[in-house]
Amino acid sequence: MKREDIRNIAIIAHVDHGKTTLVDELLKQSGTFRSNQVVQDRVMDSNDIERERGITILAKNTAVFYNGAKINIIDTPGHADFGGEVERVLKMVNGVILVVDAFEGAMPQTKFVLRKALDLDLPVIVCINKIDRPEARPQEVIDEVLELFIDLDASEEQLDSPFIYASAKKGVAVLEMGDTPESMQPLFETIINYIPAPEGDPDANTQVLISTIDYNEYVGRIGVGKVDNGTIKVNQEVVLVNAHDPNKNQKVKISKLYEFEGLKKVEVNEATIGAIVAISGIPDIHIGDTICSPENPEPIPFQKISEPTIAMDFIVNDSPFAGQEGKYVTSRHLRDRLFKELNTDVSLRVEETETTESYKVSGRGELHLSVLIENMRREGYEFAVSKAEVLYKYDEKGKKLEPIERAYIDVPDEFSGTVIEKLSQRKGELQGMANGSGGYTRLEFLIPARGLIGYRGEFMTDTKGNGILNTIFDGYGPYKGDIQYRKQGSLIAFETGEAITYGLFNAQERGTLFISPGEKVYSGMIVGQNGKSEDIEVNVCKRKQLTNTRSSSSDEALRLTPPRILSLEQALEFIETDELLEVTPTNLRMRKKILD
Ligand code: GDP
Repeated sequence: MKREDIRNIAIIAHVDHGKTTLVDELLKQSGTFRSNQVVQDRVMDSNDIERERGITILAKNTAVFYNGAKINIIDTPGHADFGGEVERVLKMVNGVILVVDAFEGAMPQTKFVLRKALDLDLPVIVCINKIDRPEARPQEVIDEVLELFIDLDASEEQLDSPFIYASAKKGVAVLEMGDTPESMQPLFETIINYIPAPEGDPDANTQVLISTIDYNEYVGRIGVGKVDNGTIKVNQEVVLVNAHDPNKNQKVKISKLYEFEGLKKVEVNEATIGAIVAISGIPDIHIGDTICSPENPEPIPFQKISEPTIAMDFIVNDSPFAGQEGKYVTSRHLRDRLFKELNTDVSLRVEETETTESYKVSGRGELHLSVLIENMRREGYEFAVSKAEVLYKYDEKGKKLEPIERAYIDVPDEFSGTVIEKLSQRKGELQGMANGSGGYTRLEFLIPARGLIGYRGEFMTDTKGNGILNTIFDGYGPYKGDIQYRKQGSLIAFETGEAITYGLFNAQERGTLFISPGEKVYSGMIVGQNGKSEDIEVNVCKRKQLTNTRSSSSDEALRLTPPRILSLEQALEFIETDELLEVTPTNLRMRKKILD
């Protein structure tokens, strides 16, 4: 049976290219919202941090209706740290929409997800968005996207992908640039005509591969997946087949079944081929499990979860001031919260250590762990973290292997020399260099993950905030030997009220301080360029005073998103306001240490 009434698509876009606006508009125009219901929240990016950092971390589902067909839209994480998630999402769909900004053109994050979609032979609809922008250059961007397809070894068919021009903001799409824009209808039509309907036998044995896990305080774990075969019904007896270990198979009864409508889950009694369903009431459901009918239960092969490559210790805050900022300070709090995270994040690993004061948390990259840290701190958890360390492996011969990342970098031409020099020192190997558009150079490196630890701040300083650095896990490779950093300055971190200010004091050009708000530290630290961190005397007491006096500068720090570069003069002005003078001795000590 072909389910002409369903289309399952994933949406791929670089940050800010308009994915959220586009989905909002599809929802509005499909009448999925009643007319008196206003779309208040942005649809896709539901997590605060996702919104602030402009990255999607977890896949989310939306469904819209068009001419009697239901279009399930699944958001895809654009960042490589969440690579495992991307592949699992793409297994649920029959095609993707690639959204590209008509001015900015194709970007590295887009390329990363597109590569996965092309590898899976998924049809692609290219949506050139923001054509209303005065500087839009849609024809050039189309050429760039086609080049990207060629770069990624797209098949003939994939090279024939339909292009569509849209202004998500104005709610219109057209098939040719000269057409009169009216609504999103051309995009809806292209989805229906170009993306294949899911197919299968509704009477076959049931098979639903659980691709993501949602979690809700009231109903607990919720498995989300596509019905690949047969039909699933409430009250049906099924076997939950574990992807790796048949001893872990469980017999369960389906108690609650949902499908997506708009942004909501609605209860249904049964669902068949091609439907994307959510299932609650099975406490022990995991990503990779296949729900099967009891006769001849066969699991669906499952995309392996990316292994952690980086670890940090999460340490109980034992300072006498603990608890003044956050609600949760004990080891028990920390432990419960970390283990709860494992419910929804399969790429994360949490291990106990010899002491109950500290837990070892391993994840897919620095970003992966920093998002967790930030989320927890916002929820009111107070804890300290150690410096990130990479996880080594050993091959059969006992040779040491380390995680290697592929870094894609776009920098203004004048900074490419510095970036190449710095990354070479960090054992990066230049793989490619090309002229990008608008005075930018594009660089590609293979570099040990440990070479990138702490590099982002330095990179931002070196490129005056104009560089773009994207990394993708490439695999484990032979250990590249010790990295000798030239001592060039130190990254310092200290808190001003709610924001953390951290700066790279560069010994050669002591002129810049990089300020980035958002992340809180609970003790000050200096991270030297040798990668070693030292504690400094920015203590919790000072922090508290600062919090109480809520200086205007902390507000300003909060407003400084995205991070920007200040001159030393500006930076000092920024730090040494009246309220902040209280920390001057510490500042001086810090600066002395740094400049020594
Ligand atoms: P996402 O990060 O891909 O989800 O991007 P958003 O949907 O959040 O859009 C990023 C920014 O681009 C927002 O400020 C939008 O208002 C803006 N934007 C989105 N679509 C358009 C468009 O068609 N035209 C213009 N001019 N701006 C747009």
